[in-house]
Amino acid sequence: MRICVLASGSKGNSTYVESDGTRILIDAGLSKKEIENRLMLIGVNPSSIDAILITHEHSDHIKGLDQFVKTYNTKVFAHRNSWDMIESKTSWLKQENQFEFTGSDFSINDISVQTFDLDHDSSHCVGFTIIEGNKKFSTATDLGHMTDDIAKKLQESDFITLESNHDIQALLKNPNYSYTLKQRILSNHGHISNEECSKTVLSLLGHNTRGIILGHLSEQNNSKEMAIQTLNKTLVSAGVTKDDFNMNVFVAEQNSPSKIFRIKDIK
Ligand SMILES: [Zn+2]
Ligand SMILES: [Zn+2]
Repeated sequence: MRICVLASGSKGNSTYVESDGTRILIDAGLSKKEIENRLMLIGVNPSSIDAILITHEHSDHIKGLDQFVKTYNTKVFAHRNSWDMIESKTSWLKQENQFEFTGSDFSINDISVQTFDLDHDSSHCVGFTIIEGNKKFSTATDLGHMTDDIAKKLQESDFITLESNHDIQALLKNPNYSYTLKQRILSNHGHISNEECSKTVLSLLGHNTRGIILGHLSEQNNSKEMAIQTLNKTLVSAGVTKDDFNMNVFVAEQNSPSKIFRIKDIK
C-alpha cells in the first residue's frame, strides 16, 4: 500500500491511498487544479482515481470535489448523514456518483474500508481504516476528543494520520481568534490539541502502529516544531526512551505533498 498526504490543514485536506488494484482519495479539500497538480507531482494520473471517500462536509475537505467529479466522473463515498450537506455545497454531483455508508464495512475493488465516528461540528464526521490484505492505514482528523474506540482502531493500524491541531496556550493567546472560535476549537466537537495527540501516540506503543503522520496542524496556533516538541515531552515524562519508541513520526504539510509512504507486506 502506498500513501501520500497531498495536503493537510484548515486550507485543504486530501490524502492519496493506493493498493495493488485501487486508487482512492480521502477528501478533496483543495481546488480541482491543485489536486491534479499534486497527484501529477507524485506521478498519478487524476483520471485513474477509482473513488473519493469523504470524512465530512466542511469546505477544507470537499472544496474541489464538485469540479473533480465533473471532470473525472469519480465515485464518491460519504456517510448517509453527510450527503444532504454535501449536496447543498455542490452542483455537479449526480445521484449515480453518490455512494453512502452507514457504519458497516464496505469494499472498493481490492480494498476494504472501515469507518469510525468522530465527534466534530459537522453533520457527521468519520475516520477511515483502509485495508489491503494484512496492511492497514487509518486516518483520524477533525475530532474534538479521543475515545477508546478510535484509539483501538489506530492501535490496529500499521500507519496512521492523526490530528495534532493546536498548542492550547498558543490558541488561547492568539489575538486574531474570537472567544467563540477558541471555544469551538477546544470543545468536544472541535479539534484535538498537540497534548491529546501525544497522549494518543503514547497509547499506541506496544501495538501495531509503525508510522504516524501528524496532521491538520493549525497555521496560526501550531508549528511542526511545537507538535514534535510536545510529543517528545510526553514520551520523556512517561519514561519512554528512544529505544522503546518504535514508530516513525512525520508531519503533514498544507502547501506540499508528503513523501510517499509504503506499508510493506513483511512487518
Ligand atoms: Zn478540517
Ligand atoms: Zn472539519
